[in-house]
Amino acid sequence: MSLKSHTFDVLVIGSGAAGLSLALRVAHKAKVAVLSKNALSEGSTAWAQGGIAAVLHNRDSIQSHIEDTHVAGAGLCHPDTVDKVVERGPESVDWLVNNGVSFTMREDRNREAFIEGEFHLTKEGGHSFRRVLHSADATGKEVQNSLEDQVRAHPNITLFEHHVAVDLVSNKHPDPEERFCIGAHVLDIDRGMIDTFHAKMTVLATGGASRVYLYTSNPDGSTGDGIAMAWRFGCRVANMEFNQFHPTCLYHPETRTFLLTEALRGEGAYLRLPDGSRFMDKFDERAELAPRDIVARAIDHEMKRVGAQSVFLDISHKDEAFIKEHFPNIYARCLDLGFDLTRQPIPVVPAAHFTCGGVMTDLNGKTDVHNLYAVGEVAHTGLHGANRLASNSLLECVTFAEFAAEDILEKLDQTSQDIKIKAWDDSRVTDSDEEVVVTHNWNELRHFMWDYVGIVRTTRRLQRAARRIDMLASEIREYYGSFRVTPDLLELRNLVTVADLIVRSALQRTESRGLHYTLDFPDKDPDLDGRDTILKPARLPQRR
Ligand SMILES: Cc1cc2nc3c(=O)[nH]c(=O)nc-3n(C[C@H](O)[C@H](O)[C@H](O)COP(=O)(O)OP(=O)(O)OC[C@H]3O[C@@H](n4cnc5c(N)ncnc54)[C@H](O)[C@@H]3O)c2cc1C
Repeated sequence: MSLKSHTFDVLVIGSGAAGLSLALRVAHKAKVAVLSKNALSEGSTAWAQGGIAAVLHNRDSIQSHIEDTHVAGAGLCHPDTVDKVVERGPESVDWLVNNGVSFTMREDRNREAFIEGEFHLTKEGGHSFRRVLHSADATGKEVQNSLEDQVRAHPNITLFEHHVAVDLVSNKHPDPEERFCIGAHVLDIDRGMIDTFHAKMTVLATGGASRVYLYTSNPDGSTGDGIAMAWRFGCRVANMEFNQFHPTCLYHPETRTFLLTEALRGEGAYLRLPDGSRFMDKFDERAELAPRDIVARAIDHEMKRVGAQSVFLDISHKDEAFIKEHFPNIYARCLDLGFDLTRQPIPVVPAAHFTCGGVMTDLNGKTDVHNLYAVGEVAHTGLHGANRLASNSLLECVTFAEFAAEDILEKLDQTSQDIKIKAWDDSRVTDSDEEVVVTHNWNELRHFMWDYVGIVRTTRRLQRAARRIDMLASEIREYYGSFRVTPDLLELRNLVTVADLIVRSALQRTESRGLHYTLDFPDKDPDLDGRDTILKPARLPQRR
Protein backbone atom coordinates (compact mmCIF):
# COMPACT_ATOMS: atom_id res chain seq x y z
CA MET A 1 0.00 0.00 0.00
CA SER A 2 1.36 3.43 -0.85
CA LEU A 3 1.27 6.64 1.17
CA LYS A 4 -1.22 9.28 0.06
CA SER A 5 -0.66 12.98 -0.24
CA HIS A 6 -3.67 15.30 -0.08
CA THR A 7 -3.84 19.01 -0.83
CA PHE A 8 -6.56 21.37 0.44
CA ASP A 9 -6.93 25.08 1.13
CA VAL A 10 -8.04 24.50 4.71
CA LEU A 11 -7.38 21.47 6.91
CA VAL A 12 -9.78 21.21 9.86
CA ILE A 13 -8.68 18.70 12.49
CA GLY A 14 -11.84 17.82 14.42
CA SER A 15 -15.51 17.38 13.58
CA GLY A 16 -17.41 18.73 16.61
CA ALA A 17 -19.35 22.00 16.81
CA ALA A 18 -16.15 24.03 16.34
CA GLY A 19 -14.66 22.13 13.40
CA LEU A 20 -17.88 21.68 11.44
CA SER A 21 -18.95 25.31 11.95
CA LEU A 22 -15.59 26.52 10.69
CA ALA A 23 -15.67 24.21 7.68
CA LEU A 24 -19.12 25.48 6.71
CA ARG A 25 -18.06 29.11 7.17
CA VAL A 26 -15.14 28.87 4.71
CA ALA A 27 -16.35 26.26 2.21
CA HIS A 28 -17.93 28.73 -0.23
CA LYS A 29 -14.43 29.97 -1.05
CA ALA A 30 -12.11 27.11 -0.11
CA LYS A 31 -11.54 23.40 -0.58
CA VAL A 32 -11.78 21.97 2.93
CA ALA A 33 -10.74 18.68 4.53
CA VAL A 34 -12.30 17.73 7.88
CA LEU A 35 -10.61 14.98 9.91
CA SER A 36 -12.09 13.04 12.77
CA LYS A 37 -10.22 10.34 14.56
CA ASN A 38 -13.34 8.25 15.15
CA ALA A 39 -16.73 8.52 13.51
CA LEU A 40 -17.73 12.10 12.75
CA SER A 41 -20.13 12.45 15.69
CA GLU A 42 -17.99 10.92 18.43
CA GLY A 43 -16.69 14.13 20.04
CA SER A 44 -18.10 15.86 23.14
CA THR A 45 -20.48 18.00 21.10
CA ALA A 46 -22.97 15.19 20.59
CA TRP A 47 -23.00 14.58 24.35
CA ALA A 48 -23.88 18.12 25.41
CA GLN A 49 -27.19 18.05 27.22
CA GLY A 50 -28.01 21.50 28.57
CA GLY A 51 -27.74 23.96 25.72
CA ILE A 52 -26.16 27.11 24.32
CA ALA A 53 -26.23 30.48 26.06
CA ALA A 54 -27.26 33.64 24.18
CA VAL A 55 -29.13 36.82 25.00
CA LEU A 56 -32.55 36.56 23.35
CA HIS A 57 -35.04 37.49 26.03
CA ASN A 58 -36.12 41.12 25.77
CA ARG A 59 -35.56 41.73 29.49
CA ASP A 60 -32.11 40.12 29.42
CA SER A 61 -29.06 42.12 28.35
CA ILE A 62 -25.65 41.58 26.80
CA GLN A 63 -24.17 43.31 29.83
CA SER A 64 -25.77 40.80 32.19
CA HIS A 65 -24.40 37.80 30.23
CA ILE A 66 -20.97 39.47 30.20
CA GLU A 67 -21.10 40.04 33.97
CA ASP A 68 -22.21 36.46 34.69
CA THR A 69 -19.32 35.14 32.58
CA HIS A 70 -16.83 37.27 34.53
CA VAL A 71 -18.25 36.23 37.90
CA ALA A 72 -17.90 32.54 37.00
CA GLY A 73 -14.38 33.13 35.62
CA ALA A 74 -13.19 34.47 39.00
CA GLY A 75 -11.12 37.37 37.70
CA LEU A 76 -9.36 35.68 34.77
CA CYS A 77 -11.75 36.17 31.83
CA HIS A 78 -10.39 38.47 29.12
CA PRO A 79 -12.87 41.35 28.79
CA ASP A 80 -12.33 41.80 25.03
CA THR A 81 -13.00 38.10 24.37
CA VAL A 82 -16.08 37.99 26.60
CA ASP A 83 -17.55 41.10 24.92
CA LYS A 84 -16.90 39.77 21.43
CA VAL A 85 -18.38 36.31 22.08
CA VAL A 86 -21.44 37.42 24.02
CA GLU A 87 -22.28 40.16 21.50
CA ARG A 88 -22.10 37.63 18.66
CA GLY A 89 -24.31 35.12 20.55
CA PRO A 90 -27.73 35.97 19.05
CA GLU A 91 -26.33 35.97 15.47
CA SER A 92 -24.68 32.61 16.08
CA VAL A 93 -28.02 31.18 17.16
CA ASP A 94 -29.55 32.48 13.90
CA TRP A 95 -26.74 30.84 11.98
CA LEU A 96 -27.35 27.50 13.70
CA VAL A 97 -31.07 27.73 12.99
CA ASN A 98 -30.32 28.53 9.34
CA ASN A 99 -28.17 25.41 9.27
CA GLY A 100 -31.04 23.25 10.41
CA VAL A 101 -30.69 23.21 14.21
CA SER A 102 -34.09 22.89 15.82
CA PHE A 103 -34.31 24.36 19.31
CA THR A 104 -37.20 23.71 21.68
CA MET A 105 -39.79 26.43 21.19
CA ARG A 106 -42.05 28.21 23.64
CA GLU A 107 -45.31 26.32 24.05
CA ASP A 108 -47.47 27.99 26.63
CA ARG A 109 -47.50 31.73 27.28
CA ASN A 110 -49.05 31.35 30.70
CA ARG A 111 -46.48 29.19 32.34
CA GLU A 112 -43.54 30.89 34.01
CA ALA A 113 -40.98 28.70 32.23
CA PHE A 114 -42.24 29.65 28.78
CA ILE A 115 -41.46 33.29 28.56
CA GLU A 116 -41.26 35.97 25.93
CA GLY A 117 -39.35 35.27 22.77
CA GLU A 118 -39.91 32.40 20.40
CA PHE A 119 -37.48 29.97 21.94
CA HIS A 120 -37.91 28.20 25.21
CA LEU A 121 -35.09 29.50 27.35
CA THR A 122 -33.91 27.75 30.49
CA LYS A 123 -31.88 29.13 33.34
CA GLU A 124 -28.73 27.35 34.45
CA GLY A 125 -26.44 27.85 37.43
CA GLY A 126 -24.55 31.16 37.31
CA HIS A 127 -26.89 32.82 34.78
CA SER A 128 -28.97 35.76 36.03
CA PHE A 129 -31.55 35.22 33.30
CA ARG A 130 -33.20 32.51 31.30
CA ARG A 131 -30.85 32.51 28.31
CA VAL A 132 -30.04 28.89 27.51
CA LEU A 133 -31.50 27.56 24.26
CA HIS A 134 -31.85 23.82 24.12
CA SER A 135 -33.21 20.93 22.12
CA ALA A 136 -35.01 19.04 24.89
CA ASP A 137 -32.20 17.39 26.92
CA ALA A 138 -30.02 16.53 23.90
CA THR A 139 -28.90 19.87 22.46
CA GLY A 140 -25.46 18.73 21.40
CA LYS A 141 -26.82 15.84 19.41
CA GLU A 142 -29.15 18.16 17.51
CA VAL A 143 -26.31 20.62 16.78
CA GLN A 144 -23.95 17.83 15.71
CA ASN A 145 -26.51 16.07 13.48
CA SER A 146 -27.63 19.27 11.77
CA LEU A 147 -24.09 20.45 11.04
CA GLU A 148 -23.14 16.98 9.83
CA ASP A 149 -26.03 17.01 7.35
CA GLN A 150 -24.73 20.33 6.00
CA VAL A 151 -21.08 19.29 5.64
CA ARG A 152 -21.96 15.95 4.05
CA ALA A 153 -23.97 17.78 1.41
CA HIS A 154 -21.32 20.43 0.69
CA PRO A 155 -19.35 19.89 -2.55
CA ASN A 156 -16.25 21.71 -1.24
CA ILE A 157 -15.92 19.70 1.97
CA THR A 158 -14.25 16.28 2.06
CA LEU A 159 -14.63 14.23 5.22
CA PHE A 160 -11.95 11.87 6.51
CA GLU A 161 -13.30 9.74 9.35
CA HIS A 162 -10.97 7.45 11.31
CA HIS A 163 -8.00 9.66 10.48
CA VAL A 164 -5.80 10.70 13.43
CA ALA A 165 -3.57 13.76 13.12
CA VAL A 166 -0.15 12.75 14.43
CA ASP A 167 1.75 16.03 14.26
CA LEU A 168 1.66 19.40 12.55
CA VAL A 169 4.26 20.19 9.90
CA SER A 170 6.01 23.54 9.39
CA ASN A 171 8.09 25.01 6.56
CA LYS A 172 11.09 24.42 8.88
CA HIS A 173 12.38 27.98 8.51
CA PRO A 174 15.17 28.71 11.04
CA ASP A 175 13.78 32.19 11.74
CA PRO A 176 10.69 31.81 13.98
CA GLU A 177 9.17 34.87 12.32
CA GLU A 178 9.19 33.06 9.00
CA ARG A 179 7.87 29.75 10.30
CA PHE A 180 4.37 28.73 9.35
CA CYS A 181 2.18 25.65 9.38
CA ILE A 182 1.83 23.78 6.09
CA GLY A 183 -0.36 20.87 7.17
CA ALA A 184 -0.08 17.64 9.13
CA HIS A 185 0.92 14.00 9.13
CA VAL A 186 -2.19 11.90 9.59
CA LEU A 187 -2.69 8.21 10.43
CA ASP A 188 -5.38 6.56 8.32
CA ILE A 189 -6.54 3.97 10.85
CA ASP A 190 -8.08 1.58 8.32
CA ARG A 191 -4.97 1.41 6.11
CA GLY A 192 -2.51 1.76 8.98
CA MET A 193 -0.58 4.33 6.89
CA ILE A 194 0.58 7.86 7.70
CA ASP A 195 -0.44 10.24 4.92
CA THR A 196 0.39 13.87 4.34
CA PHE A 197 -2.22 16.64 4.28
CA HIS A 198 -0.96 19.92 2.75
CA ALA A 199 -3.00 23.01 3.56
CA LYS A 200 -2.64 26.77 3.34
CA MET A 201 -4.42 27.06 6.68
CA THR A 202 -4.71 24.45 9.43
CA VAL A 203 -7.29 24.55 12.21
CA LEU A 204 -7.14 22.59 15.47
CA ALA A 205 -10.69 21.77 16.60
CA THR A 206 -9.82 18.66 18.57
CA GLY A 207 -11.81 19.28 21.77
CA GLY A 208 -10.71 18.95 25.38
CA ALA A 209 -8.44 16.74 27.46
CA SER A 210 -10.64 15.41 30.26
CA ARG A 211 -9.66 11.79 29.56
CA VAL A 212 -6.42 12.51 31.35
CA TYR A 213 -8.46 11.73 34.50
CA LEU A 214 -9.73 8.35 35.63
CA TYR A 215 -13.34 9.47 35.81
CA THR A 216 -14.71 11.73 33.12
CA SER A 217 -18.00 12.64 31.52
CA ASN A 218 -16.23 12.92 28.15
CA PRO A 219 -16.10 10.51 25.21
CA ASP A 220 -12.97 8.42 24.56
CA GLY A 221 -11.45 10.89 22.11
CA SER A 222 -11.00 13.79 24.57
CA THR A 223 -7.29 13.16 24.93
CA GLY A 224 -5.97 16.67 24.38
CA ASP A 225 -4.37 15.84 21.01
CA GLY A 226 -4.61 19.38 19.69
CA ILE A 227 -3.11 20.89 22.84
CA ALA A 228 -0.18 18.45 22.75
CA MET A 229 0.40 18.90 19.01
CA ALA A 230 0.37 22.69 19.30
CA TRP A 231 2.78 22.56 22.26
CA ARG A 232 5.23 20.36 20.35
CA PHE A 233 4.87 22.76 17.42
CA GLY A 234 5.91 25.80 19.46
CA CYS A 235 2.61 27.34 20.59
CA ARG A 236 2.02 28.73 24.06
CA VAL A 237 -0.56 27.04 26.25
CA ALA A 238 -2.47 28.77 29.06
CA ASN A 239 -4.48 28.02 32.25
CA MET A 240 -4.27 24.25 32.10
CA GLU A 241 -4.79 24.01 35.87
CA PHE A 242 -8.47 24.86 35.45
CA ASN A 243 -10.31 21.62 34.76
CA GLN A 244 -14.00 21.58 35.55
CA PHE A 245 -15.37 18.55 37.44
CA HIS A 246 -19.03 17.57 37.40
CA PRO A 247 -20.03 16.40 40.90
CA THR A 248 -22.26 13.43 40.10
CA CYS A 249 -21.49 10.90 37.38
CA LEU A 250 -22.67 7.32 37.76
CA TYR A 251 -19.93 5.10 39.15
CA HIS A 252 -20.04 1.76 37.44
CA PRO A 253 -16.79 -0.14 36.98
CA GLU A 254 -17.92 -1.85 33.77
CA THR A 255 -19.49 1.02 31.95
CA ARG A 256 -18.56 4.53 31.02
CA THR A 257 -19.73 7.12 33.54
CA PHE A 258 -22.71 9.23 32.61
CA LEU A 259 -23.99 12.40 34.17
CA LEU A 260 -26.69 12.33 36.82
CA THR A 261 -28.21 15.74 36.39
CA GLU A 262 -28.04 18.37 39.10
CA ALA A 263 -31.84 18.52 38.90
CA LEU A 264 -31.92 15.34 41.03
CA ARG A 265 -30.39 17.28 43.92
CA GLY A 266 -32.65 20.18 43.02
CA GLU A 267 -35.62 17.87 43.55
CA GLY A 268 -34.40 16.70 46.95
CA ALA A 269 -31.86 13.90 46.39
CA TYR A 270 -29.33 13.45 49.23
CA LEU A 271 -25.66 12.60 49.02
CA ARG A 272 -24.66 9.81 51.38
CA LEU A 273 -21.49 8.03 52.48
CA PRO A 274 -21.29 4.23 52.16
CA ASP A 275 -22.58 3.96 55.78
CA GLY A 276 -25.72 5.88 54.77
CA SER A 277 -24.92 9.15 56.59
CA ARG A 278 -25.30 12.53 54.89
CA PHE A 279 -22.29 14.85 54.82
CA MET A 280 -22.94 17.94 52.66
CA ASP A 281 -24.17 20.06 55.60
CA LYS A 282 -20.62 19.90 57.03
CA PHE A 283 -19.34 21.75 53.97
CA ASP A 284 -22.00 24.31 53.09
CA GLU A 285 -25.20 25.56 54.66
CA ARG A 286 -26.98 24.89 51.34
CA ALA A 287 -25.99 21.22 51.74
CA GLU A 288 -26.72 19.28 48.50
CA LEU A 289 -27.76 22.53 46.78
CA ALA A 290 -24.34 24.18 47.08
CA PRO A 291 -22.66 25.17 43.78
CA ARG A 292 -21.08 22.50 41.58
CA ASP A 293 -17.44 23.04 42.57
CA ILE A 294 -18.22 22.98 46.32
CA VAL A 295 -20.19 19.73 45.99
CA ALA A 296 -17.45 18.14 43.87
CA ARG A 297 -14.80 19.15 46.41
CA ALA A 298 -16.84 17.84 49.35
CA ILE A 299 -17.37 14.46 47.65
CA ASP A 300 -13.68 14.21 46.83
CA HIS A 301 -12.76 15.07 50.42
CA GLU A 302 -15.09 12.46 51.91
CA MET A 303 -14.05 9.73 49.45
CA LYS A 304 -10.41 10.31 50.38
CA ARG A 305 -11.20 10.54 54.11
CA VAL A 306 -13.09 7.24 54.36
CA GLY A 307 -11.24 5.51 51.49
CA ALA A 308 -14.45 4.96 49.49
CA GLN A 309 -14.58 4.38 45.74
CA SER A 310 -17.78 6.40 45.44
CA VAL A 311 -20.47 8.14 47.45
CA PHE A 312 -24.21 7.65 46.86
CA LEU A 313 -26.97 9.82 45.47
CA ASP A 314 -30.30 8.95 47.02
CA ILE A 315 -33.73 10.09 45.85
CA SER A 316 -35.54 6.90 46.91
CA HIS A 317 -37.41 8.76 49.69
CA LYS A 318 -39.40 10.60 47.00
CA ASP A 319 -42.59 9.30 45.48
CA GLU A 320 -41.96 6.60 42.85
CA ALA A 321 -44.33 8.14 40.30
CA PHE A 322 -42.66 11.54 40.72
CA ILE A 323 -39.20 10.09 40.04
CA LYS A 324 -40.35 8.20 36.96
CA GLU A 325 -42.16 11.21 35.58
CA HIS A 326 -39.36 13.73 36.18
CA PHE A 327 -36.34 11.59 35.35
CA PRO A 328 -37.53 9.01 32.82
CA ASN A 329 -34.22 8.69 30.93
CA ILE A 330 -32.01 8.52 33.98
CA TYR A 331 -34.40 6.07 35.61
CA ALA A 332 -34.34 3.80 32.55
CA ARG A 333 -30.57 4.02 32.10
CA CYS A 334 -29.87 3.23 35.77
CA LEU A 335 -32.29 0.33 35.66
CA ASP A 336 -30.44 -1.10 32.64
CA LEU A 337 -27.31 -1.06 34.76
CA GLY A 338 -28.99 -2.74 37.70
CA PHE A 339 -29.87 0.28 39.88
CA ASP A 340 -33.45 1.19 40.73
CA LEU A 341 -33.54 4.93 41.39
CA THR A 342 -36.88 4.64 43.20
CA ARG A 343 -35.59 2.07 45.71
CA GLN A 344 -31.87 2.49 46.29
CA PRO A 345 -29.04 5.02 46.45
CA ILE A 346 -26.95 5.23 43.25
CA PRO A 347 -23.12 5.20 43.39
CA VAL A 348 -21.64 8.45 42.07
CA VAL A 349 -18.23 10.07 41.66
CA PRO A 350 -17.23 13.50 40.45
CA ALA A 351 -15.79 13.38 36.94
CA ALA A 352 -13.57 15.58 34.78
CA HIS A 353 -15.89 17.50 32.49
CA PHE A 354 -14.34 20.49 30.71
CA THR A 355 -10.86 21.84 29.91
CA CYS A 356 -10.88 25.62 30.49
CA GLY A 357 -7.28 26.14 29.39
CA GLY A 358 -5.66 25.26 26.08
CA VAL A 359 -3.78 26.60 23.08
CA MET A 360 -3.47 30.37 23.33
CA THR A 361 -5.18 32.30 20.58
CA ASP A 362 -5.92 35.90 19.73
CA LEU A 363 -9.40 37.27 19.15
CA ASN A 364 -9.55 35.53 15.77
CA GLY A 365 -8.56 32.09 17.00
CA LYS A 366 -5.03 32.51 15.59
CA THR A 367 -2.23 30.73 17.50
CA ASP A 368 1.42 31.73 17.91
CA VAL A 369 2.39 30.05 14.62
CA HIS A 370 1.40 31.55 11.27
CA ASN A 371 -1.43 29.79 9.41
CA LEU A 372 -2.44 27.76 12.46
CA TYR A 373 -5.73 28.34 14.31
CA ALA A 374 -7.38 26.73 17.34
CA VAL A 375 -11.15 26.83 17.98
CA GLY A 376 -13.48 25.20 20.49
CA GLU A 377 -12.48 23.41 23.68
CA VAL A 378 -8.87 22.94 22.50
CA ALA A 379 -8.30 26.70 22.65
CA HIS A 380 -7.64 29.20 25.39
CA THR A 381 -9.34 32.32 24.11
CA GLY A 382 -9.79 34.01 27.49
CA LEU A 383 -13.57 33.41 27.58
CA HIS A 384 -13.78 31.01 30.53
CA GLY A 385 -11.14 32.35 32.92
CA ALA A 386 -10.81 30.17 36.03
CA ASN A 387 -14.25 28.55 35.67
CA ARG A 388 -16.65 28.10 32.75
CA LEU A 389 -20.14 29.52 32.89
CA ALA A 390 -22.65 26.79 31.96
CA SER A 391 -23.51 26.59 28.24
CA ASN A 392 -20.83 29.09 27.22
CA SER A 393 -18.71 26.40 25.54
CA LEU A 394 -20.95 25.58 22.59
CA LEU A 395 -21.29 29.34 22.19
CA GLU A 396 -17.50 29.67 22.08
CA CYS A 397 -17.26 26.92 19.45
CA VAL A 398 -19.70 28.59 17.09
CA THR A 399 -18.58 32.21 17.56
CA PHE A 400 -14.86 31.54 17.32
CA ALA A 401 -15.41 29.34 14.27
CA GLU A 402 -16.84 32.46 12.63
CA PHE A 403 -14.06 34.79 13.82
CA ALA A 404 -11.38 32.38 12.61
CA ALA A 405 -13.17 31.77 9.31
CA GLU A 406 -13.26 35.52 8.58
CA ASP A 407 -9.53 35.80 9.24
CA ILE A 408 -8.70 32.72 7.17
CA LEU A 409 -10.73 33.90 4.18
CA GLU A 410 -9.01 37.29 4.28
CA LYS A 411 -5.56 35.67 4.08
CA LEU A 412 -6.20 32.65 1.90
CA ASP A 413 -5.52 34.30 -1.47
CA GLN A 414 -2.16 35.68 -0.36
CA THR A 415 -0.98 32.35 1.04
CA SER A 416 1.17 30.18 -1.20
CA GLN A 417 1.35 26.42 -1.06
CA ASP A 418 4.61 25.56 -2.76
CA ILE A 419 6.42 23.58 -0.05
CA LYS A 420 6.04 19.83 -0.05
CA ILE A 421 5.71 17.83 3.17
CA LYS A 422 8.21 14.98 3.39
CA ALA A 423 6.61 11.53 3.45
CA TRP A 424 6.51 9.80 6.84
CA ASP A 425 9.46 7.48 7.30
CA ASP A 426 8.85 4.39 9.40
CA SER A 427 11.63 2.28 7.92
CA ARG A 428 13.44 2.14 11.29
CA VAL A 429 10.55 1.05 13.47
CA THR A 430 8.84 -2.32 13.90
CA ASP A 431 5.44 -3.51 15.04
CA SER A 432 5.20 -3.48 18.81
CA ASP A 433 5.34 -6.81 20.60
CA GLU A 434 4.49 -5.14 23.92
CA GLU A 435 1.12 -3.41 23.59
CA VAL A 436 0.71 -3.96 27.32
CA VAL A 437 3.08 -1.04 27.93
CA VAL A 438 0.54 1.33 26.36
CA THR A 439 -2.42 -0.04 28.33
CA HIS A 440 -0.49 -0.12 31.57
CA ASN A 441 0.86 3.42 31.24
CA TRP A 442 -2.52 4.76 30.16
CA ASN A 443 -4.14 3.31 33.33
CA GLU A 444 -1.35 4.44 35.59
CA LEU A 445 -1.46 8.00 34.27
CA ARG A 446 -5.21 8.39 34.66
CA HIS A 447 -5.14 6.93 38.19
CA PHE A 448 -2.43 9.19 39.58
CA MET A 449 -3.84 12.25 37.82
CA TRP A 450 -7.13 11.54 39.61
CA ASP A 451 -5.50 10.93 43.00
CA TYR A 452 -2.84 13.67 42.95
CA VAL A 453 -4.01 16.34 40.47
CA GLY A 454 -7.79 16.12 40.85
CA ILE A 455 -10.29 18.32 42.60
CA VAL A 456 -8.32 19.05 45.78
CA ARG A 457 -4.59 19.49 45.31
CA THR A 458 -1.49 19.96 47.46
CA THR A 459 2.00 20.92 46.38
CA ARG A 460 3.36 17.60 47.56
CA ARG A 461 0.78 15.61 45.56
CA LEU A 462 1.53 17.69 42.47
CA GLN A 463 5.27 17.09 42.85
CA ARG A 464 4.61 13.37 43.23
CA ALA A 465 2.62 13.42 39.99
CA ALA A 466 5.38 15.41 38.24
CA ARG A 467 7.97 12.72 39.05
CA ARG A 468 5.73 9.99 37.68
CA ILE A 469 5.00 11.99 34.55
CA ASP A 470 8.74 12.39 33.89
CA MET A 471 9.20 8.62 34.07
CA LEU A 472 6.22 7.86 31.85
CA ALA A 473 7.22 10.53 29.35
CA SER A 474 10.68 9.06 28.85
CA GLU A 475 9.30 5.52 28.56
CA ILE A 476 6.75 6.65 25.98
CA ARG A 477 9.36 8.63 24.02
CA GLU A 478 11.48 5.50 23.75
CA TYR A 479 8.48 3.38 22.78
CA TYR A 480 7.35 5.96 20.20
CA GLY A 481 10.83 5.97 18.65
CA SER A 482 10.97 2.17 18.35
CA PHE A 483 7.53 1.01 17.26
CA ARG A 484 5.00 1.73 14.54
CA VAL A 485 2.35 4.18 15.78
CA THR A 486 -1.18 3.12 16.71
CA PRO A 487 -4.11 5.35 17.72
CA ASP A 488 -3.71 4.27 21.37
CA LEU A 489 -0.02 5.12 21.40
CA LEU A 490 -0.68 8.53 19.84
CA GLU A 491 -3.34 9.32 22.44
CA LEU A 492 -1.15 8.16 25.32
CA ARG A 493 1.74 10.30 24.06
CA ASN A 494 -0.59 13.31 23.96
CA LEU A 495 -2.13 12.59 27.36
CA VAL A 496 1.27 12.51 29.02
CA THR A 497 2.09 15.89 27.51
CA VAL A 498 -1.24 17.31 28.68
CA ALA A 499 -0.73 15.86 32.17
CA ASP A 500 2.66 17.55 32.31
CA LEU A 501 1.13 20.89 31.25
CA ILE A 502 -1.63 20.59 33.89
CA VAL A 503 0.80 19.77 36.71
CA ARG A 504 3.24 22.51 35.73
CA SER A 505 0.43 25.07 35.59
CA ALA A 506 -1.03 23.92 38.91
CA LEU A 507 2.37 24.20 40.60
CA GLN A 508 2.77 27.73 39.29
CA ARG A 509 -0.56 28.93 40.71
CA THR A 510 0.14 29.63 44.37
CA GLU A 511 -3.47 30.39 45.32
CA SER A 512 -6.93 28.81 45.13
CA ARG A 513 -9.10 30.36 42.45
CA GLY A 514 -12.06 29.09 40.44
CA LEU A 515 -11.53 25.42 39.67
CA HIS A 516 -8.00 25.25 41.05
CA TYR A 517 -8.08 24.43 44.76
CA THR A 518 -4.96 23.64 46.79
CA LEU A 519 -4.78 23.03 50.53
CA ASP A 520 -1.37 24.74 50.64
CA PHE A 521 -2.77 28.04 49.35
CA PRO A 522 -6.48 27.91 50.25
CA ASP A 523 -7.24 31.58 49.51
CA LYS A 524 -7.40 33.72 46.43
CA ASP A 525 -4.37 36.00 46.01
CA PRO A 526 -5.59 39.44 44.85
CA ASP A 527 -2.14 40.11 43.38
CA LEU A 528 -2.87 37.37 40.84
CA ASP A 529 -6.14 38.90 39.61
CA GLY A 530 -6.09 38.85 35.83
CA ARG A 531 -2.91 36.79 35.65
CA ASP A 532 -3.08 33.70 33.39
CA THR A 533 -0.67 30.80 33.79
CA ILE A 534 1.19 30.87 30.50
CA LEU A 535 3.56 28.06 29.54
CA LYS A 536 6.07 28.73 26.78
CA PRO A 537 7.63 25.90 24.78
CA ALA A 538 11.41 25.83 24.57
CA ARG A 539 11.59 27.17 21.01
CA LEU A 540 8.82 29.75 20.88
CA PRO A 541 8.34 31.48 17.54
CA GLN A 542 7.81 35.22 17.88
CA ARG A 543 4.23 36.46 17.68
CA ARG A 544 3.31 38.38 14.57
C1 LIG B 1 -21.59 15.17 28.87
C2 LIG B 1 -21.31 16.58 28.43
C3 LIG B 1 -22.29 17.56 28.52
C4 LIG B 1 -22.02 18.87 28.09
N1 LIG B 1 -23.03 19.81 28.12
C5 LIG B 1 -22.80 21.05 27.60
C6 LIG B 1 -23.85 22.00 27.47
O1 LIG B 1 -24.99 21.74 27.82
N2 LIG B 1 -23.55 23.23 26.94
C7 LIG B 1 -22.30 23.56 26.52
O2 LIG B 1 -22.08 24.69 26.05
N3 LIG B 1 -21.29 22.66 26.61
C8 LIG B 1 -21.51 21.42 27.12
N4 LIG B 1 -20.49 20.52 27.18
C9 LIG B 1 -19.17 20.92 26.64
C10 LIG B 1 -19.23 20.96 25.12
O3 LIG B 1 -20.00 19.86 24.68
C11 LIG B 1 -17.84 20.87 24.51
O4 LIG B 1 -16.99 21.81 25.10
C12 LIG B 1 -17.88 21.16 23.01
O5 LIG B 1 -18.85 20.35 22.39
C13 LIG B 1 -16.52 20.92 22.37
O6 LIG B 1 -16.67 20.99 20.98
P1 LIG B 1 -15.40 20.92 20.05
O7 LIG B 1 -15.88 21.04 18.65
O8 LIG B 1 -14.35 21.82 20.54
O9 LIG B 1 -14.82 19.43 20.31
P2 LIG B 1 -15.54 18.00 20.21
O10 LIG B 1 -17.00 18.07 19.97
O11 LIG B 1 -15.08 17.22 21.38
O12 LIG B 1 -14.90 17.39 18.89
C14 LIG B 1 -13.52 17.06 18.83
C15 LIG B 1 -13.25 16.47 17.47
O13 LIG B 1 -11.84 16.38 17.28
C16 LIG B 1 -11.52 15.11 16.73
N5 LIG B 1 -10.13 14.82 17.08
C17 LIG B 1 -9.54 14.89 18.30
N6 LIG B 1 -8.23 14.59 18.19
C18 LIG B 1 -8.00 14.33 16.88
C19 LIG B 1 -6.85 13.95 16.14
N7 LIG B 1 -5.66 13.76 16.70
N8 LIG B 1 -6.99 13.76 14.80
C20 LIG B 1 -8.19 13.92 14.19
N9 LIG B 1 -9.30 14.28 14.84
C21 LIG B 1 -9.21 14.49 16.17
C22 LIG B 1 -12.54 14.18 17.35
O14 LIG B 1 -12.64 13.00 16.57
C23 LIG B 1 -13.78 15.06 17.28
O15 LIG B 1 -14.33 15.00 15.98
C24 LIG B 1 -20.74 19.21 27.59
C25 LIG B 1 -19.76 18.22 27.50
C26 LIG B 1 -20.03 16.92 27.90
C27 LIG B 1 -18.96 15.89 27.76
